[in-house]
Amino acid sequence: MHVRTATDDELPLLAKAKLLEEAGEVVSSRPDDILGELADVLEAVRLVAHVYGYTDQDVEEARASKTETKGTFSTGIVGRFRTRHVSDHTKFCVLCLSGEHEDTSEDAAYREKRRDTIRIIMERVVSGMADSDETRCLQSLVNREIGESDTMRTVASTNLQHVRTLITDVLRMEKEKKND
Ligand SMILES: [Zn+2]
Repeated sequence: MHVRTATDDELPLLAKAKLLEEAGEVVSSRPDDILGELADVLEAVRLVAHVYGYTDQDVEEARASKTETKGTFSTGIVGRFRTRHVSDHTKFCVLCLSGEHEDTSEDAAYREKRRDTIRIIMERVVSGMADSDETRCLQSLVNREIGESDTMRTVASTNLQHVRTLITDVLRMEKEKKND
């Protein structure tokens, strides 16, 4: 594994990418795992806050004062999220954020990440929040899923043909043995 220290310029983006990644894991988490995934999100929230020079207490105070003035997050979270954060394009493609959008790896962890990213952007499309860059990202990621699915189907059907031929051969050999 190649390890290097992030530059100061990279930290905000990397911290935000981490937060998105963890949030994606909450989205795709099984109920049994959700507590652990939520804990990871909190940790990522703290990381982003620290990168921007805020303490845990600053975040907590901001949360408390917002709850006082605007009510809790049970309603309206999506709308507020949009107006506050989605000014820069491609912000919500996790794979663009982590520089892995063009990755063509067959690795299972990467595929899982790509599916999480698709789920996140689809959520945003459904809520009418996705911008055109995200929509393009979604399109290319889905196309890759379709391409892989087609490839696997071809491989599977070739394998099936192969197995059928083998069975036929085995049956013929059995029969020939009996006839001898
Ligand atoms: Zn992307």
